[in-house]
Amino acid sequence: MKAKIWLSSPHMSGNEQHFINDAFSSNWIAPLGPNVNGFEKDLQEYLKEDTYVAALSSGTAAIHMALILLDVGPGDEVICQSKTFSASANPIVYRGATPVFVDSEKDTWNMCPEQLERAIKDRIDKSNKPKAIIAVHLYGMPYKVDEIHSIAQNYDIPVIEDSAEALGSSFHDRKCGTFGDFGILSFNGNKIITTSGGGALTTKSEALKNKAVFLSTQAKEDAPEYLHKTIGYNYRMSNVVAGIGRGQMMVLDDYVEKRRSNYKFYRNELNGLDQIVFVDEPEGFFSNRWLSCILTESFEMREDLRQLLTEENIECRPLWKPMHQQPVFKDAPHYLNGVSDDLFEKGLCLPSGSNLTDNEFDRILNCFKTYFVQC
Ligand SMILES: *Cc1c(COP(=O)(O)O)cnc(C)c1O
Repeated sequence: MKAKIWLSSPHMSGNEQHFINDAFSSNWIAPLGPNVNGFEKDLQEYLKEDTYVAALSSGTAAIHMALILLDVGPGDEVICQSKTFSASANPIVYRGATPVFVDSEKDTWNMCPEQLERAIKDRIDKSNKPKAIIAVHLYGMPYKVDEIHSIAQNYDIPVIEDSAEALGSSFHDRKCGTFGDFGILSFNGNKIITTSGGGALTTKSEALKNKAVFLSTQAKEDAPEYLHKTIGYNYRMSNVVAGIGRGQMMVLDDYVEKRRSNYKFYRNELNGLDQIVFVDEPEGFFSNRWLSCILTESFEMREDLRQLLTEENIECRPLWKPMHQQPVFKDAPHYLNGVSDDLFEKGLCLPSGSNLTDNEFDRILNCFKTYFVQC
């Protein structure tokens, strides 16, 4: 069996160990400490725009925290991009609220402004104005920030910006993760930088950041005994894990460049094939190209290619199955235009790690060559 080629594998730079050693030698083996503060500062300096960052245990926890801070609860509805990973939507259910799914547009594959407005109007007509909107920069491609945020503003609905896949992406030179009322980041093992597992909440308000940290460390009141006036969570990032994050921040821009060059490689090499479509960045959009994705002509072609790659021990995956198609969300209201269904049918994510080798790229390309010579 040939060695496995992963879709997106962790890529340590060598800088991480130094920060982890610091944690051990100073005995900060706890969900607080210098690495946590340092990692938050690194992220704040990277994101700019006077952003405050709370380092948490996962991106999912960060979305949950954003919904708590927006006071989303039972009976509320929250609009969520349908084409996303389930972690965007699950925390809505943790709050006892109902997700309302909105389809994508073709330019970025993210939330469609027309469908968003249609959904908001219809939910208001049904006397349940959405309490929040979760928009996603999927695969690192920014969503249509201007359109989505101007609709949200017109209806006075806060936006949670799911930037789990988009650290290093930007829209008109402003970093993703800084546009929403809250933003979230993920440092899960498969993301562009990883801390093995981890996430962050971003906000423009220092008070809200402090509140997120307070709630994420069990909501302990300032008293000698353990005193609680609210329900708390154990969502803070560990100081050991944050050390990995500090080392990874030193190479983030290099990894963005590498992932973007992966995309360019696929695009150049497969450009001659009419059957394969790439989605380039619209003017002003800058994607970290977390994953390189292609659209094929048909479901059958996508499946043939997927099987061929899988047989060669090359990991690849259909574009995320939309939430409105997920059995677990079958009863959720949705506003569709066919785009995300079509993308799911024909789309494929290709190996995209920042540590892919020339030899691995050759193996991947060979599969395409084999397939297109045959057909
Ligand atoms: C990974 C991911 C999350 C969740 O982040 P975790 O850190 O794994 O909890 C949320 N949304 C999207 C779009 C993701 O890709």
